[in-house]
Amino acid sequence: MHESRHILVVEDELDLAELLRYNLNVSGHNAEVVHSGQAALDAVAARKPDLIILDVMLPEIDGIEVAKRIKSSTETSDVPIIFLTAKSSDEDQIRGLDAGGDDYVTKPFSVKVLLARVVAALRRSAKGSSESEILEIGPIQLDTDKHEVMVDGSSVRLTLTEFKLLATLMAGPGRVLSRRGLISNAIGPGITVTERTIDVHIAAIRKKLGEHGSMIQTVRGVGYRLVDPES
Ligand code: CA
Repeated sequence: MHESRHILVVEDELDLAELLRYNLNVSGHNAEVVHSGQAALDAVAARKPDLIILDVMLPEIDGIEVAKRIKSSTETSDVPIIFLTAKSSDEDQIRGLDAGGDDYVTKPFSVKVLLARVVAALRRSAKGSSESEILEIGPIQLDTDKHEVMVDGSSVRLTLTEFKLLATLMAGPGRVLSRRGLISNAIGPGITVTERTIDVHIAAIRKKLGEHGSMIQTVRGVGYRLVDPES
C-alpha cells in the first residue's frame, strides 16, 4: 500500500538540499536532488516525479519559470509543486501560486512541517483519480475525474489545490464554507495552513474564472460561498 514516491528536490543551497534528501529518504520517500532550474527540467523530462519541492531563488532559470514550464506541458501539468520561498510577502506568494505551485513553505522552515505538506500534497494528488462526477454551476463545469474545469466552454488550468477548493465550493452552491472547513476539505484534515493561504488560493481562482470570478463571494468574518448567477 505504501509504495515509495519519487520526489524531486530542486535547491541550490547544497546543505539544505542534502538535509531534504536525507529526511525524505528516512520518511520512506525516494528523493532525487538537483541544484539548478535546467537540471530540474532535465530530471522531469527523464523521469516524471510524483512531487517537486522547488526553491524559488535559483540561478539562471528561477523556480517560478521552472514551475511555469512544468505546468504548461500536458505530460507534467498534474505534478504537485511545493515552493520553497525566502520571500513571505503576499504578492510573492500569489506569484508562486499563479505559476502553478500547489503549496509553498517559507524559509526558514521546519523539516517536520515540510514533510507534512509533502504527505498532504501526495494524498491530494492520489485522491484525484478515484471518483468521477461532473459538477455544473452557471458557466462553470468541473469534472472531478479528469480534473478539468471549463468556463464558458473554455478549459481553465487550475493547480490541484485550486481545483479541490473550487470542487468543494461547487459541491454546495450557496452554502457558506469557513476557511477552516475549506482547509479541511481541500487541503486535508490536521494540516496547519494559515487562513490567509486560503485567501491567496481563492484570489488566484477568481482571477482564472475571469468575469465569473465574482461567483465566489467573500462572506465577511466567515469564509466563502459560490453562488449560481442563474438562480
Ligand atoms: Ca536558492
